[in-house]
Amino acid sequence: MEINKTNKFKNFFKRYGVIALAGVFVVAIALTIAFTAVDRGSEVTTNTLQFEEPMNNAVVLKDYSDTELQYNSVLNRWEAHLGIDFTSEDTSVLSVLEGTVTSVTNNSLEGYVVEITHSDGFVSVYSSLDANVLVAEGDTVAKGQQIGNASNTATNEFTEGNQLHFCLLKDGVEVDPNNYLDLQNK
Ligand SMILES: [Zn+2]
Repeated sequence: MEINKTNKFKNFFKRYGVIALAGVFVVAIALTIAFTAVDRGSEVTTNTLQFEEPMNNAVVLKDYSDTELQYNSVLNRWEAHLGIDFTSEDTSVLSVLEGTVTSVTNNSLEGYVVEITHSDGFVSVYSSLDANVLVAEGDTVAKGQQIGNASNTATNEFTEGNQLHFCLLKDGVEVDPNNYLDLQNK
């Protein structure tokens, strides 16, 4: 009985072993294609977020730098600069994406500061605004909507005219806005 069973088993594999192997192969290829498709899908999702510039005709005063220290002439020291400073003849400051205002604060070093939370873990922060902030915490803002005006209230950085200190965070960490914004005047 036992021998007979084993033989049947062997015969079965002789007959269907190749088919079984081919089946495993097909499943493996299918899984590879499926995972590749998922990868492509997530890339497409991040690329569909189209950021606007935070000021019209913005000129970069000081670029983002997380490794090279930059000289801060106001505070007379070298420091990392985890944002971009912009200035423009048009002082309007605009939300770079649609989102929700999650805080409006004010301190003597950074002026008025508006934080907007967007989808996909993005948060944008606009510092050095004047007191005439046009949004309040909890407001929903559209992409390109004016939220305030750039000014010289960020006394820690720039005092000769209006400026916007702009930061972009992804999942709670400052990222280089150059990788997301399409800046024309660089
Ligand atoms: Zn700055």
